[in-house]
This record gives sequence, structure tokens and C-alpha cells, in this order.
Amino acid sequence: MSRGMRLMAVHAHPDDESSKGSATTAKYVAEGSRVRVVSCTGGERGDILNERLKGRPEIERDLVAYRRREMRAAQGVLGCEHTWLGFVDSGLPEGDPLPPLPEGCFALEDLEVTTEALVRVIREFRPHVLTTYDEKGGYPHPDHMMCHRVAMSAFVAAGEHGRYPDAGEPWQPLKVYYNSGHSLERLTAIHEAMAAEGLESPYTDWLANWKPRRTGRVTTEIVCADYFETRDRALLAHATQVDPDGFWFRVPVPLQQRVWPHEDFEAALSYVPIRPVEDDLFAGLGTPEEADALATSGDLMLAYDGRPPDMEESA
Ligand SMILES: [Zn+2]
Repeated sequence: MSRGMRLMAVHAHPDDESSKGSATTAKYVAEGSRVRVVSCTGGERGDILNERLKGRPEIERDLVAYRRREMRAAQGVLGCEHTWLGFVDSGLPEGDPLPPLPEGCFALEDLEVTTEALVRVIREFRPHVLTTYDEKGGYPHPDHMMCHRVAMSAFVAAGEHGRYPDAGEPWQPLKVYYNSGHSLERLTAIHEAMAAEGLESPYTDWLANWKPRRTGRVTTEIVCADYFETRDRALLAHATQVDPDGFWFRVPVPLQQRVWPHEDFEAALSYVPIRPVEDDLFAGLGTPEEADALATSGDLMLAYDGRPPDMEESA
């Protein structure tokens, strides 16, 4: 059904593409779509989070190169294409008060510069659909919030004649979605299923301390349970970033497949109507030829704005 369509997943760091929406990526690739992952940064300020790989000089002397290789391995598992946007990881500032962000990092880059970089990739790959993070970044990392701003800005700019004339021919992606990974509903369903089987839920503390982060609703559920194992293999390819015995792997895959067999997305902006609950990110776009014609028609009107009203964006 989606054969010949093109999806672009815009992420902040190498490993985000494997932890957010990756089973969806693998599914669309298997169905004959092209999926391009864009990593805005190189993950330069990541730490080694896998205990077994700490203190290894061959890794520590050039973590950046190591992470590039990990990304290539994850890309191979998912079967997608990949582009580095080339900005520098901002790191996750910690402390009270928070230290200033490091000079030259992605989150401090000029929005015009970062937007042009992504517009160039969009006009080259010509995606019908974009995915990225919500306005809160999905989680409050400065690069994730910046990733949202850049993706939304480039979504609009890519189709406009006269904007970034050196970045290629205008191309208007037809929809942009937010990844909606860890909803209260999903965590609760898995937590309760773990308890029912006498297993220890890894989500007990998370749920006890749950604070509603934003409003926003899932519009699209992509059934992709057959690709959960692929998702986990892609994540494990980021060996320095992922503890194989850690939190993310404590829920048995068969239980996930039974209780929550889909990955969820929130339509943010769309040039075609959105009819929840969709089961396809390309719903309403027709054949690849029809979608191509729409993306270059030049007289599109927004048909859907699902951005939550509590989103007061500065951008
Ligand atoms: Zn990240």
C-alpha cells in the first residue's frame, strides 16, 4: 500500500531514530517505501551508558567516530537511508543553576541556518511525510526541542518559492507528525499486563511520579509489532548508548506485541484531512504519483492543524 512513498524521520542524536518510531521505519521499508533518517547532531556529547564498554581506550579516544559506526550499524538493521545534518550536540545541561549551553552547539544555532540545512535535505529526498518531536521535545533535552523547531520551520519553508533558493527546487511535504512514544495509556497498559503475569514492571516509579507534560492526541497508530525485534536490534547497535540489561529491555517483546502492538503518532500539520485514528502515515495521499503531484502543486492549503492549544511557541 505504501510502496514507493517516502518518509523522513528527523531526529536529534544518533540512537533517537532507533528508540522512537523505529519499528514503523522498519515496517515501511519492508513494504517498499523509502525512509530517510536525519540526525541533526553527531551525538558528540553523549556519555558511554553501557557499563560493559566503559574504560575502553579504543572507544574513549574517539567516541564520535565510534558513534558514527554505531549509527551505520543501526541504519543497516532498519534498512533506512541516513543523513547527518552536521550540527554539534548541545549536551544535557545538569546542575542548579543549569550551566549555559556550550558555544556553537545545535540548540544555539541560528534557526535560519539550521532550517536551510534541513530544507536542502528535504528538497533532495522529497519526502511525502515528515516525523519529528512535539514542541516539548518529547523529553526536555535542548537538542530535542531545537529539533522540533527546525523540523517545523523546514516543513513550511521547503515548499515556498523564494525561500532558500540555493537549497534546491521547492518541495512541500504533505504532513508532519510527532512521535508519541510514551503515553500514559501505553505505560499503564504494559504496567498492568506485567503485574498480571507476576512480572516486575519497570514503570512503577515513572507512573507514580507521572506529570502531564502537554495535551495532544494520538491520531495515528502504526501496527508494527512484527518489527519490535528489529527495533531492539537497532537500538542495541548503539552499543555505547544502550545498556542491554537496562530499563528499555525489561518488558518481554511478546507482551508488548500483545498489549500495545503499534507505535503512535500525533498529526501536527497536514495538507490533506486527518481522520483519526489512522493506521498509515501516508493515509489520504493516494499513489506516489498523486502525492508527488500534490507536493509540487504550489497552491496547497492546510487541512489540519493538530498542534495543541497549550503550545505557545517562541519560534
Ligand atoms: Zn536524543
